[in-house]
Amino acid sequence: MSFQDRTITCSDCGVSFVFTAGEQAFFAEKGFTGGPKRCPQCRVKAAALLIERFVKQFDEEGQRVLEYAQAEARSLEHRWVGTEHLLLGLLRASEGVAGRVLQRLGVELAETRAAVDHWARGMPDGAAPRGATPPQESIGLAQRARVAMELAIADAQARSRERARPDDLLLALLHGQDESSPGRGVAAAVLNGFGVTADRVRATLAQVLAEDAGAAGPEHPYRLAGAGQWEEATKSISQWREQRRQGRRYSLVLPEELFQEVERLAERQNTSVVELLRRFTRLGLFAMQLQERPDAALIVREGGTERQLMLL
Ligand SMILES: [Zn+2]
Repeated sequence: MSFQDRTITCSDCGVSFVFTAGEQAFFAEKGFTGGPKRCPQCRVKAAALLIERFVKQFDEEGQRVLEYAQAEARSLEHRWVGTEHLLLGLLRASEGVAGRVLQRLGVELAETRAAVDHWARGMPDGAAPRGATPPQESIGLAQRARVAMELAIADAQARSRERARPDDLLLALLHGQDESSPGRGVAAAVLNGFGVTADRVRATLAQVLAEDAGAAGPEHPYRLAGAGQWEEATKSISQWREQRRQGRRYSLVLPEELFQEVERLAERQNTSVVELLRRFTRLGLFAMQLQERPDAALIVREGGTERQLMLL
């Protein structure tokens, strides 16, 4: 889709501002329909008031999650709090019910943050949320994130609870199929990409709540993860995770003289040491020590000293 710059008059302060093509692409991605009514300054003010209003309707744990979400958006230099930042907020509140549910489903803060960053970097030019504007004191609120908070609050009220909890918010993040519903947002795409569906969250949540209440959880709570709600994004996140995990599976330690031998061989064959080692590693040759490590590295050992070369 191609966008063209538009001039809009702010409904709050009456100042004219340009709604750039890049911003339009960004808005479309974030699930906004139409254009902004307010200028960037008034928009930030309105969003701050809105977030403030939502915060009051969450319990203490939920309020912490919303604070974390805003901090995550700021530290990633994103201009909006989106569903992805709400998810990061839930993960940071790791002691809470929602945080524990996510951990049990294998969703980790660092990996999720990397997935969100990966997602943001993949945005088209001009629409990138990163560093596109100078850091602001307060940041906006994306449509789907707003809907997620509204859903969480409505759900809590329907269950006769005064305030919404983080687990209400977690379920809300996976809700709905419409273009503007949270279920079509980045958080849902990341969770689905990690194989986490609304059904699995519901089942695990029931289990964690039952354990907290002192009762035994159901024995086989999971249904297999179904097809993602937003298939292309789900597939892309899932592939990204797979590649990332493959890329860091092994460490290979080899003595300096062996390394030099490989280096000479690589030169003769007009290839690189890494490429050559990849072949050898596959065959199981030369690998003196292969082990699961957080990062893949080729460790060259000479006497008592070691130096590391990244394999990727
Ligand atoms: Zn204005």
